[in-house]
Amino acid sequence: MSEFEPVIGVEIHVQLSTNTKMFCGCELSFGDPPNTHTCPVCLAHPGVLPVVNEEAVRRALMIGLALGCEIAPRSIFHRKNYFYPDLPKAYQVSQFDIPICGRGEFVAIREDGSELRVGITRAHLEEDAAKLTHLGGRRAGAEESVVDFNRGGTPLVEIVTEPDLRSASDAVTFLRQLRQTLLFLGVSDCSMEEGSMRADANVSIRPVGTHEFGTKTELKNMNSFRFLERGMDAEIARQEEILRDGGRVSQETVHYEPETGHITSLRSKEESHDYRYFPEPDLVPVAPDPAWVDQLRDDLPELPLSLRRRMVDDMGLSAEDALVLTESPELVAYFMEAAALADPKACANWIRGELRAQLREAGTEPWESKVTPAHVAALVDLLAIGTVSVPAAKEVLAGMIETGDEPAAVVEAKGLAQMDESDLAGVIAAIVEANPDQAQQLRDGKDKVMGFFVGQAMKQTGGRADPQAVQKLVRELVLGS
Ligand SMILES: [Zn+2]
Repeated sequence: MSEFEPVIGVEIHVQLSTNTKMFCGCELSFGDPPNTHTCPVCLAHPGVLPVVNEEAVRRALMIGLALGCEIAPRSIFHRKNYFYPDLPKAYQVSQFDIPICGRGEFVAIREDGSELRVGITRAHLEEDAAKLTHLGGRRAGAEESVVDFNRGGTPLVEIVTEPDLRSASDAVTFLRQLRQTLLFLGVSDCSMEEGSMRADANVSIRPVGTHEFGTKTELKNMNSFRFLERGMDAEIARQEEILRDGGRVSQETVHYEPETGHITSLRSKEESHDYRYFPEPDLVPVAPDPAWVDQLRDDLPELPLSLRRRMVDDMGLSAEDALVLTESPELVAYFMEAAALADPKACANWIRGELRAQLREAGTEPWESKVTPAHVAALVDLLAIGTVSVPAAKEVLAGMIETGDEPAAVVEAKGLAQMDESDLAGVIAAIVEANPDQAQQLRDGKDKVMGFFVGQAMKQTGGRADPQAVQKLVRELVLGS
């Protein structure tokens, strides 16, 4: 048991997937040739004037409402001044003391089903900087650096949490479920790899039982949750070592090298007053009509937390089922459509189990496959009324994936209907007669041999026998009971 407790807060930058940039009409693009989506506004020519993208405001409000934030009746933009080649104006238009979304709270669910409550400090609108690429070495060691202004001016929402997280694994649980919620809102594609979602973690440690915060470091810009978790753990371990040796943690920005597992320092952290924030004189305040905000609140889609609670409380699913099935809006929609037609628990089992397993080989998702939710429900019903056995149902599913036919048609075409008991009785009698040794073992009380009879019956009927009916018939024949 460590004598130190980690204290973690995170800052998440989310690129909004609007059609155009935050303050100009340039199209948003990813992967287009560099510097093909620029104009005088996002290249900071003198005398140009920015105009706020209303769709970006709408999406920022949706995020704030989903996070339970207080919505500011009137928020303003500030200039955040710093000089860097990715910022042609030499300031970033951001929000400072009056963000569009104030305090809120996000509830995540850990794998063990317990709740993880994370305070949201704020969520504000800003513009992204251009993209710098360093060639021939990293940063200071690079031979040259090139800049792509396509990304410059992309609408961003920065979400800042309270320092409420107490482990790297909790931080990642929170981030994964926050990401999921943003995907359900449809505001961003939240790709860590492409940089449309980026997370920084503020990490400090303090002796267990104390309340004062230690000096924090900022772990920058990891492009996967896995690396972020490892990076936080490495940084926590580094700080513990410093304190144990009687040293002091210095406030700085650090970087985690996934290849080596090492933490390196980037630069000492700027104090916020270094940015010389001042109100942006070229933009009017954002004052959303309260009726509009109410409308947006009413129109929010059902979010993963509520869906998961409903699946567990009303539909009889396990917490784990619910976590898996709320992975994406598409999967939820697919499951809900099936669950409206047949037993939800059985639909959940078949969709997250056999269907996904069989589709994985082809690299497809259920909603992209030929199998409709209604057909999954029909298969579940065929099982429930005993038309097919479980092994046969798996074969039926394979046929459905291949042809897109409804399960009854596949059953018919492949002759997979379960045999009725009188037909099955003849098959079992023949198996028992042909295997007197195994029959004797059963009489001697070696129940394990039952597996042999079930296997034989499945083989001879091509999977059309109900295993339970087989066991019952064998017992009657061999034991007379
Ligand atoms: Zn532009």
